[in-house]
Amino acid sequence: MQRVQAVGVIGAGIAGLACAERLLRAGISVTVFEKSRGIGGRVATRRTDTGTTFDHGAQYFTVREAEFREQVQAWVAAGVAAAWQGRVVSLEHGAVTQLDDQPPRYVGVPTMNAIAKSLAAGVDVRTNVTVRALWDVHGRWQLEDSADARHGLYDVIVSTAPPPQSLALIGGLSRTLGQTLARVAMRPCWAVLLEMQESLPAAFDGAFVADSPLSWIARNSSKPGRQPTECWVLHASPEWSQAHLEEPAEGVAAMLAREFWRVTGMPSQVAKQLTAHRWRYALPQEPLAERYLFDRERNLAACGDWCGGSRVEGAFMSGWSLAEACLTGA
Ligand SMILES: Cc1cc2nc3c(=O)[nH]c(=O)nc-3n(C[C@H](O)[C@H](O)[C@H](O)COP(=O)(O)OP(=O)(O)OC[C@H]3O[C@@H](n4cnc5c(N)ncnc54)[C@H](O)[C@@H]3O)c2cc1C
Repeated sequence: MQRVQAVGVIGAGIAGLACAERLLRAGISVTVFEKSRGIGGRVATRRTDTGTTFDHGAQYFTVREAEFREQVQAWVAAGVAAAWQGRVVSLEHGAVTQLDDQPPRYVGVPTMNAIAKSLAAGVDVRTNVTVRALWDVHGRWQLEDSADARHGLYDVIVSTAPPPQSLALIGGLSRTLGQTLARVAMRPCWAVLLEMQESLPAAFDGAFVADSPLSWIARNSSKPGRQPTECWVLHASPEWSQAHLEEPAEGVAAMLAREFWRVTGMPSQVAKQLTAHRWRYALPQEPLAERYLFDRERNLAACGDWCGGSRVEGAFMSGWSLAEACLTGA
């Protein structure tokens, strides 16, 4: 492969931004295309009508690998991330159990997507652009968006869209990528945003919930830099989310809110805000062993949290490793 000079990245989640930021630092021209209005992907923040913000996707991140540790230290030094000292427990049939050996947990500040904004500084990110097709123009790539506009030329295209969407975009252009992408299943998650009228007497700030339609509940307002208003994020289990995937959001929100009062045993309140958000592709069922996928004959690549390791750290490492591969040709 000739020296890479221009790269087009599909998706401004953590994988796409980590990849773009690393390439930009090495002097490569990079453009990131994001279909949503904002950046961050599943590292997401929702602002409600009352002005309250909720982290309704990723709740926090942990650190294992050296490269990610360096990045997290830089975010903390820049004030865009901080340790979350929330009391995280396990909750089963109303019984609260303290957890041993808990890893340090970090969050974006003042909202989760602050880390995405920090990675994107200086990167050419074009939001509200849905990539619909790729065109081979004499061995280089052009992207076509849903408004029929064309972008590029690029030497390499990196897709960080979840596997079913990456498959639709690049699967027909690279048989090896197509076959691998088709193997990755993603699991859904219904998330509920619950703002209270009054503070709650909970003895914890986050809980892994067992034996319930809920799998996780967290007091969003216990995270650093958030508004003091008592608000909680509830996540349904993958199984429950799958079973109720196509149901209207209002009904899902009501069912999961009732379950919240049941599992916590706290006296219920009429919520100030109650909304549900469906993540159709929330978490990979089983991430691939490969850190990224790269078809060097076609100059097409794919990465994300479903490659190498899941979650925010996995997404970062996947994007970062793919950038290194573009730079070194390794
Ligand atoms: C409910 C929930 C809870 C979670 N909790 C945690 C947690 O507590 N800790 C943790 O570490 N991780 C958690 N995660 C996982 C974490 O959020 C993800 O692993 C990580 O954010 C994935 O990043 P990514 O860049 O791989 O993908 P994404 O964030 O999905 O980014 C892909 C981007 O591509 C864009 N896109 C897709 N198709 C197109 C197109 N055609 N054109 C342009 N753009 C396109 C999408 O809009 C999106 O922004 C959670 C996820 C969810 C949903």
